[in-house]
Amino acid sequence: MLTATAGEAAPQAVCPTHPSREAVRTCVRCGGYVCSACERQEGQCPECTRQTALEVPDSRARALRAVVSLLITLGASFLSLLFHVGLLLMGEEGDEALEKVTAVVTTVGFLSGYGSRVYFLMWFHRVVRQLQAQGAGIGRTPGGAVWMWLIPFVNFVKPFTLMKDVAEKAGGARFAASLHLGLWWGVQLLFYAVDTVKRVLVKVVWKESGAPWDAACVLGIVMALVVVLLTLSYVRVVRELQARMDRRRAALEAGNEPVPEDEAVAA
Ligand SMILES: [Zn+2]
Ligand SMILES: [Zn+2]
Repeated sequence: MLTATAGEAAPQAVCPTHPSREAVRTCVRCGGYVCSACERQEGQCPECTRQTALEVPDSRARALRAVVSLLITLGASFLSLLFHVGLLLMGEEGDEALEKVTAVVTTVGFLSGYGSRVYFLMWFHRVVRQLQAQGAGIGRTPGGAVWMWLIPFVNFVKPFTLMKDVAEKAGGARFAASLHLGLWWGVQLLFYAVDTVKRVLVKVVWKESGAPWDAACVLGIVMALVVVLLTLSYVRVVRELQARMDRRRAALEAGNEPVPEDEAVAA
């Protein structure tokens, strides 16, 4: 091309980083020359890409909020588990006070479980947004990625594949494998299954007659146990992924481009 138009470099211009290379265009943000090796997403030079990525607020505070609410859910569910075992052992004529306390901790666990879900999704949204700004997007907008958790049936499969993509982009394939996301998602599916059984029992089977004591206690135990496992696995995933995001952020702040650990080791 002989005539330079907007965004295209003049024919004789060279890259400031690689003087032996011819510039292919100018950066849309700073106007500096960019060679084909330096060109980044959305027509920016590496430094402008770095600056743009740093303009996205980090996800640390959201991760902390998600972990705290998950731990509250974990604590409440663990107590609910113990108290349900107590109720089962005591039998129907057992302690009325224990029954009330059990109902309270179960409700607290239920409510903080909802809170955990909201905080987790807010964190996930920010993580996807940061990766996108760092040129490591997962091919979905942050909002689009969050929707995959909310749409019925889609949310049986999609969140797992999204989380795998996020982990690979954030820390490389080896890191993603070390997270054992299959296990995490297996517990999530187990929760969906137990929750569905519970709804059917409470709203259909036990609607007229009321729940038999032992069966209701066992259901309470199973439900609390699954939530304990679920919150533990979520806490682990959030903490480990956030640690990778922190490392990427530190690399950006130090003036480097974030590179997943696997690639950094291989390089
Ligand atoms: Zn630039
Ligand atoms: Zn260059």
